[in-house]
Amino acid sequence: MNYQLDFRNKTVLVTGAGRGIGKSISIGFGSLGAHVILVSRTRDQLETAAQEVVEAGGKADVITADLSSIDNIKAIVTEVKHRFKKLDVLINNAGITKRMPSEDVGEEDWDRILNTNLKALFFMCSRVAKEIMIPQGFGKIVNMASAGGIQGITYSAPYCATKGGIVLLTKVLGCEWAKYNIQVNAVGPAYISTELVEGFMTEEFRKRVINRTPAGRLGTPEEVVGGFLFLASNLANYITGHTLLIDGGLTSFFI
Ligand code: NAD
Repeated sequence: MNYQLDFRNKTVLVTGAGRGIGKSISIGFGSLGAHVILVSRTRDQLETAAQEVVEAGGKADVITADLSSIDNIKAIVTEVKHRFKKLDVLINNAGITKRMPSEDVGEEDWDRILNTNLKALFFMCSRVAKEIMIPQGFGKIVNMASAGGIQGITYSAPYCATKGGIVLLTKVLGCEWAKYNIQVNAVGPAYISTELVEGFMTEEFRKRVINRTPAGRLGTPEEVVGGFLFLASNLANYITGHTLLIDGGLTSFFI
């Protein structure tokens, strides 16, 4: 048994890789020698992130696509299969949110958040398993859940519904695909300082989060990366269906 994290000769696809946590995850895999396929909507952000993956020691390719269309997901998986021949690791990180009272949630908001966070993630898992990982006989999938997938975040009903869904999907897929030597796990961060979070973080809300977090601060994107590296590595060969919380103690805290 080799107890070192090593992704040389491993191909890793990361969704939502252009900025925020997805970019840090991509650089993390790159620093351990991986060939990272960065997928997201914005080409120039992807190119910059890919450059940083290479500077960290990895190889990088980019695919620009909107994941909220199933046709796009099928096209991405077909491209990966033909261009790269195998996929060792799938990281489903892309996600969106919008804070609003539940009584004001419209059908368009509900569909957009559910399609991006839950439907796209499920079909990425499903297509990658069927087209690539089941035929090749191995694979690791790590999904981006959230502490909001196990505890309620007020004014975030569609978001929490998707993240709770991801926690359970991860268990179901982990059970179904264990016999194919595919491990499916998730990471659930609490508040991490990214553009997504800073976009709605008022000073009052930040104080509330800090008061509720034993670590006394928000996390950084880099502090989430280790969970993905571990669950995508050989060190996690007998772990499946699990959600690893990375939350500075927030979900452990009662009083
Ligand atoms: P971010 O907004 O900085 O990055 C999200 C990335 O996903 C962007 O690159 C965006 O282009 C991409 N993306 C969104 N919709 C897409 C689509 N339809 N097709 C392709 N790409 C798409 O956000 P972040 O804070 O880095 O969050 C990343 C993930 O982590 C999300 O799933 C989020 O729910 C989850 N998360 C974040 C936090 C946090 O505090 N930041 C906490 C828990 C979970």
